[in-house]
Amino acid sequence: MDYPRIFEDAIDSLKQERRYRVFADLERVAGRFPHAVHHTPSGRRDVVVWCSNDYLGMGQNAGVIRAMQDTAGRMGTGAGGTRNISGTNHPLVELEAELADLHGKPASLVFTSGFISNEASISTIARLIPDCLILSDSLNHASMIAGIRHSGAEKRIFRHNDLEHLEDLLRRAGRERAKLIVFESVYSMDGDIAPIAAVCDLAERYGAMTYLDEVHAVGMYGPRGGGIAERDGVMDRVDVIEGTLAKAYGTLGGYIASSTAICDAVRSYAPEFIFTTALPPAIAAAACTSVRYLKRSGAERAAHQANAARTKAVLRAAGLPVMPSEAHIVPVLVGDPARCRAATERLLNGHGIYIQPINYPTVPRGTERLRITPTPCHTDAMLAALADALVAVWQELDLPLGGDAVAPPLEALAAVP
Ligand SMILES: *Cc1c(COP(=O)(O)O)cnc(C)c1O
Repeated sequence: MDYPRIFEDAIDSLKQERRYRVFADLERVAGRFPHAVHHTPSGRRDVVVWCSNDYLGMGQNAGVIRAMQDTAGRMGTGAGGTRNISGTNHPLVELEAELADLHGKPASLVFTSGFISNEASISTIARLIPDCLILSDSLNHASMIAGIRHSGAEKRIFRHNDLEHLEDLLRRAGRERAKLIVFESVYSMDGDIAPIAAVCDLAERYGAMTYLDEVHAVGMYGPRGGGIAERDGVMDRVDVIEGTLAKAYGTLGGYIASSTAICDAVRSYAPEFIFTTALPPAIAAAACTSVRYLKRSGAERAAHQANAARTKAVLRAAGLPVMPSEAHIVPVLVGDPARCRAATERLLNGHGIYIQPINYPTVPRGTERLRITPTPCHTDAMLAALADALVAVWQELDLPLGGDAVAPPLEALAAVP
C-alpha cells in the first residue's frame, strides 16, 4: 500500500479544482488593528486586513487584554484538566452567569469553541429527544451539520429562510412527533438574516423546539449585544441560543444559553464537553470582560453598522458587484474560483490589502466571492484605498464592473451616509 500517495493524490485533486487553501503568514498588531504584518519570503510588509471576524476590534480592547494578562499572572495558563477532574475555574463560573444574563436565560454552558458547542449541543439534545426529527436550514454552518449527523436523528432540510417550506415539513411530520428546528440568525457568507419571530410562531403552532446559532450576531446586535433575537425582542421564545466568544468578543470559546435542564443535560451527556480540557481561566476572564463591556457600550455597534453601510455604498458607487446583504458583511461577487484566488493575491501583493477568497464548498460554485468585513477600526482613507485597489484588480482580471468603473474621489466619500 502506497500510503503517502493517498494523501498526495487528495491534495492534488484539491489543487486541480483550485480549491487548495493557502494561509497567509500574518501577525496581528495590538493597538494597530486592522493593520497587520505580512511575513513574506522577501521580508515583512504592512497590510490592512479587511476580512477579520474580530468584528468590533475587541481583540485589542485594553480592558480585555488586561483581564487576560492579570488572570494568567494570578492563575497560570492552563485549566489543569476537564471540569470533571479540575472543577470549574472561577472565571468560567462568572462567564456562564454573564452569558445566561446576556440572553435572559436561567443557564449557560461554555465550550472550547463555537464549533464544539454546536456539535455537542445539537447532537446531545437530538439524541435525548425520543424519535427526534431535525429541520435544518440549507445554509447552516458545518458545525451544525456535524451535530445533526452525529445525533443519528432523522433530518429534513428546508430551503434557506423559506418559511413556507419549513411549515410544509412541520405539517407533514405531524404535531405528535418531536421536532427540533436548527437555524442561524445572521448567515455570514451572504449577510442575510433569519425571520426568527416567524420561525418561533411556526415552532409554537406545530410543537417544535428551536435552536438558534447567533455566532455572527452576538456582541453586534441588540441593545446589550444579545444578538438578532434580542434586537427583535424574541430571546424568550428561542429554546437554545448558541454563540461564540471568538468573533465580536475577540477571544475564544463557544456556548449555549438555555433552560437549566437543557444546559445540565448537555453538560452531563456530551462527550465533547466531558472529555476535553476546559477553557483556561485567562481566556474565560477576558471573554467575560468583553461580554460585560459590550453590554454597556453601544458605540462599537453603532460605528460598525455605519462603516458597513458606508463600505457597501462606496464599493457600489465604484461599480463593484456588491451582493445584497442586510447585515455587516459585504460580499463582492467574483463567480470563478481561479480569479477569486488571483484577486486575493493581487490585493495582497500589489496593494497591501488582505481579503481571503471564499470558494466552494463554503459557498455554491459560481458564487465565489470576496467577503469583506468592515470594523469600527477601518478609516475612510482605508476604504478609499480598498475601492481603488478592487477596481484596479477587477480591470486586470477582466471582471465586470457595472456603471462608472472609476472609484469615487476621497472628497466624495464624505458625502456617503
Ligand atoms: C465561526 C462559526 C462557528 C464556530 O465558531 P468558533 O468559535 O469559531 O468555533 C459556528 N457557527 C457559525 C455560523 C460560524 O460562522
